Amino acid sequence: MNSNVYVNRTLNLKKIKYLGLDMDHTLVRYNSENFEKLSHSIIKEKLIKNRAYPETLRKLQFDYNFAIRGLVIDRQKGNLLKLNRYTAIRNSYHGLKPIDFKNHQKIYKSTYIDLSTGQYLAIDTFFSLSLAVLFSQIVDLKDNDTQNKYPEYAKIADDVLDAVDEAHRDGSLKDEVRKNLDQYIIMDPAVVEGLEKFKRHGKKIFIVTNSDFHYSKLLLDYAINPFLKEHKSWHDLFEYVITFASKPRFFYEGAKYLKVNPEDGTMTNVSEKLTPGMYQGGNARQFTSDLNLDGDDILYIGDHIYGDILRLKKDCNWRTAMVIEELAQEVESNKKAQPIIDEIEGLMAKKEPLEDDLTQMMTERVESGKIDEVQSETLQKKITEIDTQISGLIKKQQVLYNPQWGQLMRAGNEESYLAYQVERYACVYMAKLQDLLELSPRTYFRAPRRALSHEKTATAVEEIE
Ligand code: IMP
Ligand code: MG
Repeated sequence: MNSNVYVNRTLNLKKIKYLGLDMDHTLVRYNSENFEKLSHSIIKEKLIKNRAYPETLRKLQFDYNFAIRGLVIDRQKGNLLKLNRYTAIRNSYHGLKPIDFKNHQKIYKSTYIDLSTGQYLAIDTFFSLSLAVLFSQIVDLKDNDTQNKYPEYAKIADDVLDAVDEAHRDGSLKDEVRKNLDQYIIMDPAVVEGLEKFKRHGKKIFIVTNSDFHYSKLLLDYAINPFLKEHKSWHDLFEYVITFASKPRFFYEGAKYLKVNPEDGTMTNVSEKLTPGMYQGGNARQFTSDLNLDGDDILYIGDHIYGDILRLKKDCNWRTAMVIEELAQEVESNKKAQPIIDEIEGLMAKKEPLEDDLTQMMTERVESGKIDEVQSETLQKKITEIDTQISGLIKKQQVLYNPQWGQLMRAGNEESYLAYQVERYACVYMAKLQDLLELSPRTYFRAPRRALSHEKTATAVEEIE
């Protein structure tokens, strides 16, 4: 099957009765660079006006590529970190400057960090990119400030985080989006076509979003209605639309549902079982039981590893699909990188026997007290030459990805921390919703068998022999 959906756990779409959708960045795509630029400018103003930050903040320009998703902010030290699957730091910046390996080891005595301490802040939605950029820029201003105009790093992090939160809640961002929808929201007729196809095949579709009723209506009117062929409006396409859901709490707490009148957004209490329509709040447990469903009848698709995927998987047994928009570019870059990777592997294969010979020679020296200096020097020289070639190739590979942070899904040879979470909690994942919708609603996704390290070694030996 030629598919752009990647499988971690076997999933049979034929068995899925309900398709649940997150709205922002999943069902409705954003021009994220424009949106985060707007967010960056609004939060700067908020910090100047409400929190007495210096006016110089106004001069800071937004750089979309300065941060990627999956990084964490170290609130106390003013750093931005990229972690691998074991939470070992693989790349780091202090403010706007890279931290070199030696300093790195000095600052973080252990290579591994404990993400549960509250010292760290995950940058795991597109909505937090502006936060990461502005935090690093203000840290840099603080480091160069002689007049003590900035608070401690942790306070800067909290202030920026609060300002982002406010910007999302008080209408300052959303009013701007409302005025210029075409600048911020991407229209995607193929998604609507795909959803209508899934409905024809008997699937019910619902939305669970953290956005409020008015904003959800704005985006759905704009991005869904114009492309409907078999439904009058999105009200008919989606059996349930649950707004202001407070995910991830929606998946593990028991908040009550309020019924929303789609005409004017007014709300009433719900005392009976859920019936199709619009709601606010609520919880996953009641949804599953009121609709007489088993958890694995539902596939929920979202873009936020924590809010949409991880807590859902830990606390209720719906199936999960994750949209990772950067994946399209990453897969393209991986293809371009393949010849470079092959070359690196070729050089490694040349280097390993040389290293073995050198190890042998050094071991014998301890035993016999003798060593052929010329031969050992020649070996060492060859190894260094190969290492230089390899580092050149690694640099060539690096420029195919984000120049500062490299790949999204890898940290060196290991998976990145984000990739580890995706593998653990998302049953399947893809770059966009359409990748799933273009397939048959009866598709069987089979998880590939993963080789464990000792199994891989056995194969490698067989291949060489
Ligand atoms: P969803 O992805 O459809 O669940 O919706 C995400 C919603 O959360 C959007 O309306 C965002 O504006 C909103 N949002 C994102 N970050 C924050 C925040 O830090 N505080 C409050 N709302 C946020
Ligand atoms: Mg979302």
